[in-house]
Amino acid sequence: MSEKPSDHSSDTLSVCDFRPKSMLRLKAVTVTQARYSAIDAHNHYSDKMDLEWLIDNMDACNVRVFVDLSGFHGDRLKRRLERLKGKYPTRFAVFHVPNFAEISEPGFDVKAARELEEAVRAGAQGLKIFKSLGLTVRDADNQLVRLTDPRLAPLWQTAGALQIPVMLHVADPFAFFTPLDAENERYYELRRHPDWHFYGTDYPPLEQLFEDRDALLEQYPGTNWIGAHIGSQVEDLDEADRLLDRYPNYYVDFSAREAEIGRQPRRARQFFIRHQDRIVFGIDSWPDRSMYRSYFRTLETDDEYYRYGGWPNQGLWCISGLHLPDEVLKKVYYQNALRLIPGVQI
Ligand SMILES: [Zn+2]
Repeated sequence: MSEKPSDHSSDTLSVCDFRPKSMLRLKAVTVTQARYSAIDAHNHYSDKMDLEWLIDNMDACNVRVFVDLSGFHGDRLKRRLERLKGKYPTRFAVFHVPNFAEISEPGFDVKAARELEEAVRAGAQGLKIFKSLGLTVRDADNQLVRLTDPRLAPLWQTAGALQIPVMLHVADPFAFFTPLDAENERYYELRRHPDWHFYGTDYPPLEQLFEDRDALLEQYPGTNWIGAHIGSQVEDLDEADRLLDRYPNYYVDFSAREAEIGRQPRRARQFFIRHQDRIVFGIDSWPDRSMYRSYFRTLETDDEYYRYGGWPNQGLWCISGLHLPDEVLKKVYYQNALRLIPGVQI
């Protein structure tokens, strides 16, 4: 008996078009509002966002404060402060971003620290460092500027003296630093964003970025650091554990990492419980209601095997909820951020 010919349409399906739909029939809880008032401590306002639309979404989701890390510096920062805090003084916090394009100018170190002081006087509530520092920012001699560069020291010192947190984004998912091949778990994402692929000789090794970051935590114990995206170490929560144990001035957010915590829900739950005083909520994503609600579901419920917000952008896997205890939720949603970011109120 001859075999049936295979269906060739399935042979030609590109991996980038594969969208497996789970056949599991499971409960699916919709968490409309965060159980406790939430502070979105890691997000980016954009002029494309209608302010009233944003406030409506925040109200609908019980998000009391939106922290805009894209305040930039100088007049641009002042305009942003005016735009967001002019009408809604308690609903927004804005962070200052230094101008590293000036790093090679004489006196940069003193000027950067002075600009930070001015920004805080003008209403900025924190310092944001984008991942480009250490990864792509180069000085006039075409040398990569490392986080430990002495020209940056006054900035770190001043943040500590002003008692404002430094939201520090160092590195990125581990997979962004590995070859883009059949084993790369972020294949989809890197195909869409080749500019996020930091593998090769143009970039420092991942280990160097982490070593430099750890040196800052060590050298500036009076400065509060928030490691964005669990310090880019959500793939290695044992290591994130060790850092949090070692440095009491180190905090983390888990923004843009719902897909990561939710694919290891039992390990992530232990991590959240152990470091419940050091983790802040944030999504680092377009702030529509469905994105916030997906995070709430992951933090609050024990739902199993569902698609994370933005699926399949970070990977084809599904996630499960962490089902965090109420006391932990309260700290993560707002209490820790209230303590860390001066002037924030809910
Ligand atoms: Zn961000």
